[in-house]
Amino acid sequence: MIENQLIMKGKEAFQAAFDDDPKCVSAAPGRVNLIGGHTDYNRGYVLPVAIDRHTVVAGRRRTDQEIVVHSQTLAETIRVDLSTVEQQQNTSWIEYVIGVVSALVGETLPSGMELVITGDIPLGAGLSSSASLELAVGATVRDLFDLQLDDRSLASRCWTAETEFVGVECGIMDQYAATFGEENHALFLDCHNKTHETIKLTDDLRIIVVDTNVKHELAASAYNDRVSECQEGVEEFNKLLSHEVSSLRDVSVEEFESYAESIRQPVRDRCEHVIRENRRVQVAAQALKSNDLEQCGNLMFSSHESLRDLYEVSCPELDMVVDWAHETEGLMGARMIGGGFGGSVIALATSDMLNSFKKVVEKSYFTETGIEPEIYTSQTSDGVTSIKYKDIR
Ligand code: ADP
Ligand code: MG
Repeated sequence: MIENQLIMKGKEAFQAAFDDDPKCVSAAPGRVNLIGGHTDYNRGYVLPVAIDRHTVVAGRRRTDQEIVVHSQTLAETIRVDLSTVEQQQNTSWIEYVIGVVSALVGETLPSGMELVITGDIPLGAGLSSSASLELAVGATVRDLFDLQLDDRSLASRCWTAETEFVGVECGIMDQYAATFGEENHALFLDCHNKTHETIKLTDDLRIIVVDTNVKHELAASAYNDRVSECQEGVEEFNKLLSHEVSSLRDVSVEEFESYAESIRQPVRDRCEHVIRENRRVQVAAQALKSNDLEQCGNLMFSSHESLRDLYEVSCPELDMVVDWAHETEGLMGARMIGGGFGGSVIALATSDMLNSFKKVVEKSYFTETGIEPEIYTSQTSDGVTSIKYKDIR
């Protein structure tokens, strides 16, 4: 069983780093978002799945006030004194760990601890290694110190760690997917009300992520522009509509169509993307419920076109990979994921169709761009799990 393998991996990593057994091991998955591009920070809907790549954290309490963390992934050990936890900002990957400890317990932790981090999620590839690290650390700390925290609070504190301690402006999707994801299910998530529903998927569904390995300069500044353009859209619709609009999720497709004329470009196009994308996510969720993968796939292609033409966050490399997906017979859908201007494409296929698309990318991407792509294939998996020592064997 995958869970046992992960726990063993954590145990072995801990033994290698600290020469003893851990008292608790937790594993949290990465995620990909089937549809819902740039809707999360507009407080809309997303449809992620947790994937079978994980960050594993194993830990043990110490008798003194030190927190010692070894990342096997980065081959680095960092030591932090409990009393200086708040001073650890802007000091690399340890922020994610200390941010979670601080969001869970502040400085009231009774003692320090030893943690080891391992796993198989590529860092910074858009598969959310950061949230999975946060959840695996959070679940381990919860078990080590018997903290009374339910999963919802855990997810939400990990989100606080990433937004306030690390300082990354992100929606709640990553932490929720790493917590509430389920094997063979997608997670339909309302980023405003923080409610979620799991939707059963067919067992032979496979997810392919193609990392284009490009990152264009524009990414950071364009992201900020999009955030402020959406905000301008909210202000405009507030003037135009008779009900309150606190985010673009409050504007229906019909309201957009009636009032869009008077909104300046490019704000109108940005709003159109977000408003129609929210609708697409809702329709895709319904399609998955009725096992209509073809419709879900077509919505993913439409999502990509909208991200390319209206939200203008794609790039030639992403478009090229999505075009190949379109041309691959039997492949259901594909779109760019993440912030844009590079990064990855997700494609949806059944297990028997997986290889034909992989072959196309392997054959053509390097020839076209001179860059080697990274191709990850995965299945869905469960959200965060943790095991205390008595069960670690
Ligand atoms: P993503 O979440 O898409 O992988 P981010 O930039 O949000 O990309 O998060 C990646 C960062 O998370 C890394 O640069 C590192 O600081 C931290 N991180 C994730 N996994 C690990 C790990 N196994 N060991 C140490 N740091 C990690
Ligand atoms: Mg991240």
